[in-house]
Amino acid sequence: MHFFVEVILPLSLAKTFTYSVSEAEYHFIQQGMRISVPFGKTKIYTALAVATHQNSPTLYDAKEIHEILDHTPIVTPIQITHWQWIASYYMCAIGDVYRGAMPSGLLLESETIISKKTTSSTDTSTLSDEEFLIYEALELQSSLKVQDIIAILNKKNIFPTIQKLLDKNIISLQEETQETYKPKLVRYIRLHPQYNSDQGLSALLEVLKKANKQKELVLNYFQLQASYKKPISVKKLIETAQSSSAVVKTLIDKAVFEDYLIQEDRVDFSKNLTQKDLVLSPAQQKGLEEIKTEFAQKEVCLLHGVTASGKTEVYIQLIEEYLAMHKQVLFLLPEIALTTQLVSRLSAYFGNRIAVFHSKYNNNERVEVWRNVLQNSDKAQIVIGARSALFLPFSNLGFIIVDEEHEQTFKQTDPAPRYHARDTAIVLANFHKAKVLLGSATPSIETYFNATTTKFGLVEIKERYGKVSMPEIALVDLKDKYFRKKMTGHFSDTLIEAITAATTLGEQVILFQNRRGYAPLLECMTCGHVPQCQQCDVSLTYHKHKNQLRCHYCGYAIAKPTHCHACSSIELTTKGFGTEQIQQELEQLFPDSKTGRMDQDTTRGKFGFEKIINSFKNKEIDILVGTQMLAKGLDFDNVSLVGIMNADNMLYHPDFRAFERSFQMMTQVSGRSGRSQKQGKVIIQTYNPDHNTIQQVTVNNYAGMYKEQLYDRQIYKYPPYFRIIKITLKHRDYEKLKQGAMWLYQVMHTNLNIPVLGPEEPGINRIRNEYIRTIIVKIPQSSSLGGVKKIMQKMLQSFDAVAPYRAIKVSVNVDFY
Ligand code: ADP
Ligand code: ZN
Ligand code: ZN
Repeated sequence: MHFFVEVILPLSLAKTFTYSVSEAEYHFIQQGMRISVPFGKTKIYTALAVATHQNSPTLYDAKEIHEILDHTPIVTPIQITHWQWIASYYMCAIGDVYRGAMPSGLLLESETIISKKTTSSTDTSTLSDEEFLIYEALELQSSLKVQDIIAILNKKNIFPTIQKLLDKNIISLQEETQETYKPKLVRYIRLHPQYNSDQGLSALLEVLKKANKQKELVLNYFQLQASYKKPISVKKLIETAQSSSAVVKTLIDKAVFEDYLIQEDRVDFSKNLTQKDLVLSPAQQKGLEEIKTEFAQKEVCLLHGVTASGKTEVYIQLIEEYLAMHKQVLFLLPEIALTTQLVSRLSAYFGNRIAVFHSKYNNNERVEVWRNVLQNSDKAQIVIGARSALFLPFSNLGFIIVDEEHEQTFKQTDPAPRYHARDTAIVLANFHKAKVLLGSATPSIETYFNATTTKFGLVEIKERYGKVSMPEIALVDLKDKYFRKKMTGHFSDTLIEAITAATTLGEQVILFQNRRGYAPLLECMTCGHVPQCQQCDVSLTYHKHKNQLRCHYCGYAIAKPTHCHACSSIELTTKGFGTEQIQQELEQLFPDSKTGRMDQDTTRGKFGFEKIINSFKNKEIDILVGTQMLAKGLDFDNVSLVGIMNADNMLYHPDFRAFERSFQMMTQVSGRSGRSQKQGKVIIQTYNPDHNTIQQVTVNNYAGMYKEQLYDRQIYKYPPYFRIIKITLKHRDYEKLKQGAMWLYQVMHTNLNIPVLGPEEPGINRIRNEYIRTIIVKIPQSSSLGGVKKIMQKMLQSFDAVAPYRAIKVSVNVDFY
């Protein structure tokens, strides 16, 4: 008799693999347990069991597994089904989904690089012999590969040992950035058992007879124990007794006390709990009732509420109802940066029942949320996260909110799975029989289409909370202003006056500029040469603060040249402008105001964003300049003016969504103005004040924008009328890529009876030294999406079988955004 387990490997492989197991293992293994397995000659991976069976594989000899890593499944059957759906819909390997879904702390493999945490001091007496050996090796060497550890411990089953060291917060995996360290273990103290009796006490006092400080500490301990009735942490004891850790240590050495560690949850929101009573406005209440009515019939509902209509409060009410039914709630946000504000708003109602899950959290934190969700723990009744939170092991999911559903960051671009979190959430909800609420002031065309064609429910809130008026939007014609010399740098006189007026009243200002850096280009005034990235087909961006030219695609950077590399002229000038330059001009124009900047350059690091938001909220910043990060649902109550520095570069993006996005971006940024009492003001600087999209923004005409765009989408064959699959091909050899892309295009063009476009050279045709070509396939509603994908898969397989093209990298992006 032979016994086998079928596993998913965390690799870009479409198939499951068969490994051989013993009879006892065969009976023990359940779907969703992790198993470490050998792969290839030397590799080891953490695989996921999907089934056990007794059929030998026909194409290869099944290898033996190394070991079973879990006692109980840590992935649920629904997850596996959901992941299979993702793989099939988004045309990627199930292994890609598995790899993308799991925190890397749960996916150790032979290539994993491990290093010691520099921030923690370790009590080596808590380590097992094997753990200590690894610890010691890491004292001598800054990092080790799993393979090295196999050699050190002289055995192959080492993942559990590494896992323990990870859990003890002693080591970390290399790919994670080691930022602000939050202790996971709290050290507690208790009396040594030998003194836990009446005779013990007198013995103890005898021991401490001559040591006053120690005696005092022990007496304090007794007092605290009597009054506090909770485990006593070392910290608490030292504080209460006003003693020192040295005294504690002596007492531990004397075996009067013993210390022990308790895991404390890293994310503690209990402090915020103030249990407010939420009273909805009539408009909110009506919206809430309508959503519930829609949910009686439909699985998905769109809440289309203008900016500052108080959508969050409606969400809170609904969440409360699902929690009362003991359901788990998933709250998806487009941007991790937004979690801070949301968490502090939600934790006022739900306290410690909130867990946060996103990529800036380190492995330990993510693993912990994973486990809490799996156990349906109280600590994770509400999960707030960016798109990857969809992959958590929910067992009892009742409700999913996708806030700011129109945001393109919900679509993952690289690596596979290239899924759209909104659409994937709807499918997930279906498996759980859960409801989905999509929220936005500027819904995506696709979603609004679904909501008006009765697929989704539609609920609208048309007024701001507190009946505050929508901001007044004024347009400034840049052509005219430059002509009449009314510009100072990039500021029109109108904008300067408005900023002066607002800041004089102590009100705050937000300025929106879609580009970071100082200026996009450095240009030679003699020959017109613009420095380019060596590896990408893009010009370098000038960053004044660092005096550097940087590539925003690959990170390549050089010091700002003193002369032109083409003609040696020293007359160099900057062209265009970014946030950094706006901030500098501001400092000159408004020397008395404090300015801040929010873009990718200033928000690096785990708390970078929080810091800026907090100082703006606390009014330490008067004028905040930022990129589209500003457009995403932030709530500041003292902002009375929003300025859009230049509306045009958004409008003329070569992309069928450019007008839709420009409308969303401008409406959202405008929505930050005048949110609480006074009507706010918005000034949009543009060369095209008569442009339809800008006019639609000005009068808050979402319906007009929708109608116009929908018409274009139909004429030009785009979503929602056509589904789009984009195929990207990359190779270092320009000619080979050109031939390969043509080959694939022709095969698709001949065999698919639908529009196939390309192969196109994109605007930026080389990144990191790889040339790029794209092919677009447009699938009309009348064709079967599944059928088309099946044929495409076959063609991609035959492409891969053509020897000269095998090295060309091909990626497929379904529902390309
Ligand atoms: P939206 O997400 O629709 O843009 P928010 O939910 O951020 O709007 O609400 C805008 C502001 O109004 C927030 O500061 C919020 O606290 C406040 N607000 C909304 N509804 C209520 C309510 N029912 N009671 C008290 N304050 C509310
Ligand atoms: Zn030159
Ligand atoms: Zn580059």
